[in-house]
Amino acid sequence: MKIDKSITLFQQAQTLLPGGVDSPVRAFKAVGGQPLFIERGKGPYLFDVDGNRYIDYVLSWGPLITGHAHPKVIQAIQQAAVKGTSYGAPSPLEIELAKRIIDFMPNVEMIRFVNSGTEATMSALRLARAYTKRDKIIKFEGCYHGHADMLLVQAGSGVATLGLPDSPGVPENTVKDTLVAIYNNIDSVEMLFRKYPGQIAAVIVEPVAGNMGVVPPIEGFLEGLRNITEREGTVLIFDEVMTGFRVHKGGAQTLYNIKPDLTTLGKVIGGGLPVGAYGGKREIMQMVAPAGPMYQAGTLSGNPLAMAAGIAALDLICDQKVWDEMEACGCQLDAGIESAAKKAGVPVIQTRVGTMRTIFFSETKPRDWSTVKNADKVGFGKFFQKMLENGVYLAPSQFEAGFLSIMHDENIIAETIAAVEKTFRMWQ
Ligand SMILES: *Cc1c(COP(=O)(O)O)cnc(C)c1O
Repeated sequence: MKIDKSITLFQQAQTLLPGGVDSPVRAFKAVGGQPLFIERGKGPYLFDVDGNRYIDYVLSWGPLITGHAHPKVIQAIQQAAVKGTSYGAPSPLEIELAKRIIDFMPNVEMIRFVNSGTEATMSALRLARAYTKRDKIIKFEGCYHGHADMLLVQAGSGVATLGLPDSPGVPENTVKDTLVAIYNNIDSVEMLFRKYPGQIAAVIVEPVAGNMGVVPPIEGFLEGLRNITEREGTVLIFDEVMTGFRVHKGGAQTLYNIKPDLTTLGKVIGGGLPVGAYGGKREIMQMVAPAGPMYQAGTLSGNPLAMAAGIAALDLICDQKVWDEMEACGCQLDAGIESAAKKAGVPVIQTRVGTMRTIFFSETKPRDWSTVKNADKVGFGKFFQKMLENGVYLAPSQFEAGFLSIMHDENIIAETIAAVEKTFRMWQ
């Protein structure tokens, strides 16, 4: 595989951008080798600057559920762009996207658009604190909620991949009210509520963890969180930035039938453009300025291009049929990988919920960060590199989710399985 142009560009980029990238995991640090510079994407494929083609399972880390450059999404962006790229005033597109999201997720009664998932979780926590007049929050080890200071504690993949337990520059004072519980462990949550009675504003959770690799909630975990938070007057926040429109068209809250008070969204709702959102119970959302006193704002929030792209993307996935097709492709891929790994005698455990999946090089069923972190990172790195050589682009870390799109059809999956078989044949 020739990647000369990527090599040259990466050298140049490293002199201009820290580490040569604008988001750490893109640098391939966890798997070695060197990142590919991308020229374009089309449907299920990515093309690098050297002209190599890859089947893409990263999909911009989740957003591209309609694949790259879907004609309907591109058309929507073009039509919006000629009418101006930003107004700094309300536009009808915000109502259109809000309506669609609320249709998919009935627990979201009102919504505020922002520009990233980070902004969404940061704002939702401010809102929960304003609403409860309490300061402390609970997050879970291995869950990532963006890079806001107060959430950069035991935060999963990006941080784990870099081996930074925490980040310098996060003052101790900003994380002193962040309590950390164990994923899939209700006792660890009860313990914190006993220790800090009446002080916990919010519990924020990835309802299906995706940022330590995909770790599904065990039976009773999400119900347990709902029961405890209701009892304690604490706001339950489902961070569905990744799971929303990924694990089910109505998100994890529909799949598991749990009603969070607030939901944070991002990724898919922007159709590949930068959008985040937080929403939930009307009574709580009415506290957001200018309806209420909790301040939160954004120069480019509700951006018309981003709204148009989001609307087009959601319209492409509103039919149950596309979800059934993606589920069938997911099953096909699970089975193909399982049989190839078995034949090669390589122990792997796959997890998948809807269109989110991970191949763990491990014999331990993933349940929380402590069971996940011992996976064979060297084995995964080797798999990653060989899959790349065989034309498949996976997330460059053992602790990430992979994604499917409506463009990953039966043939693309069969081509992927052939690459997996070839990879495992060359394993020793
Ligand atoms: C990606 C992600 C975020 C952060 O979103 P950004 O748009 O990268 O700021 C927050 N929460 C979860 C669960 C995510 O997967």
